[in-house]
Amino acid sequence: MTLLTVENFIDGASCPAQSGAWLECDNPYEAAPWGRIPRSDAADVELAVAAAHRAFKDPAWGGLTATKRAALMNRMADVITAHAEELARIETRDNGKTYKEMLAQLRRIPEWYRFYAGLCDKINGAVLPTENPDMMNYTRHEPLGVIAMITPWNSPLMLLSWKLAPALAAGNVAVVKPSEYTSASAVRFAQIVTEEAGLPAGVLNIVTGLGAEAGAALTRHPGIAKVAFTGGIGGGRQAYMAAAHNLRPATLELGGKSPNIVFADADLEQAARGVVQGIFGSGGQSCVAGSRALVHVSVYDRVLTRITELADKIRLGDPMSPDTDIGPVANRAQFDRIMTCISWAKEDGARLLCGGGAVADPKGGAALFVAPTIFADVDPASRIAQEEVFGPVLSVIPFETEAQAVEIANGTAFGLGAGLWTRDIARVHKIAARIEAGTIWVNSYKGGSHISPFGGFKASGIGREGGVEMIHDYLQTKSVWINL
Ligand code: NAD
Repeated sequence: MTLLTVENFIDGASCPAQSGAWLECDNPYEAAPWGRIPRSDAADVELAVAAAHRAFKDPAWGGLTATKRAALMNRMADVITAHAEELARIETRDNGKTYKEMLAQLRRIPEWYRFYAGLCDKINGAVLPTENPDMMNYTRHEPLGVIAMITPWNSPLMLLSWKLAPALAAGNVAVVKPSEYTSASAVRFAQIVTEEAGLPAGVLNIVTGLGAEAGAALTRHPGIAKVAFTGGIGGGRQAYMAAAHNLRPATLELGGKSPNIVFADADLEQAARGVVQGIFGSGGQSCVAGSRALVHVSVYDRVLTRITELADKIRLGDPMSPDTDIGPVANRAQFDRIMTCISWAKEDGARLLCGGGAVADPKGGAALFVAPTIFADVDPASRIAQEEVFGPVLSVIPFETEAQAVEIANGTAFGLGAGLWTRDIARVHKIAARIEAGTIWVNSYKGGSHISPFGGFKASGIGREGGVEMIHDYLQTKSVWINL
């Protein structure tokens, strides 16, 4: 089979890697390579950052009025809508997640560009009172410059757009280092918004490659004004240190160990479905996967029975099929990580209710599938209850009192999301205030929108994405004093 070649996208055009080195791209469902991407290094990053700097100053971008920038972003939204199926197919080919999930994400991405397009002409400074009537003082909110964006493989274009839409609305330009597992959709995206929506050359540059090479070169580049990173805590820490070294701001969207807390008064059928969807939707490969279920002792056995029944019905298979709930694991490293986590749970004495290991590829191939796995009676301090698995593994932990539930929920390094399942509205407000997490869902799990801020407490991240205020994370304020 002929392998496809994807190149970097720099200064509005395809660009081969300076090193001439390549990384192979695999289709996890076919368990076979489909193409290759540049294994970029500091020389490619240099080209991209230089192109971005030129674009930042170029009147074609830097000279656009707010109204024209908004119109351009609305055209981007139209173009993304027109290419949603194509982009979703590319993402499924790379990460093995279901086409219906990737397409649903693609269908929502235009909302981000339209929402932030609406803010372009609302970036107002202010005239401020002064103590001296002969002095005038006003503020201007100006773009930062070249933003380094580092993105993961699980929701590639959605997580890129959470950064790119507000950054562009604020007048910035970007160099993106997508995940080495899923770079093709970012390159195609940059091509279509440049060629079909008219985004000027150099405003959006894509440099592919490894985190420790291209990613590290980008985050430590002195020409970068800000680092916006989504991924795991290891890479996040490195990116944060690189930004700190250059005294640049960084936003980090990192991992989680999010709890779903089921109280005795919950609608138990609704809660069981929410718990199962919260962890096994996306095959657990979601930052907000509800990977711990804290269940009140009085309903513990009933909930365990029902979630096991529901998990047994989950269909593994071809991610392009509308009947598939979970596709293959995205890559070998992730599969090995899930297997290690499952072995920890077994060693640490958790009770296995279902799954517990790999499943043969239903088409007889070499694709890596993991059975939806539930462990009960998990010790909240054990490794499986503390570490992010990023796979279809649920840890169930019993609790007796509200105080105990809150203590267990807060008892990890993370703080991304939490679900509360109860009919008691007073309890909802009380517990929502005490849980250390950036998002709380009540009798639902995983909803969100471009209008609402999303991000983590503690090791789950720094800063927020989404919402009106967040555009200020991509702006800097200047104070102008005039002697009248
Ligand atoms: P990862 O950290 O391995 O990779 C993410 C990105 O960082 C990739 O592009 C990678 O190449 C790059 N990278 C790695 N090391 C780097 C370094 N030293 N310098 C610069 N860049 C570097 O994460 P992943 O496996 O792609 O994604 C899964 C992780 O992402 C999970 O932990 C998940 O929870 C997290 N995530 C968080 C959110 C959120 O919004 N909070 C959303 C999705 C995923």
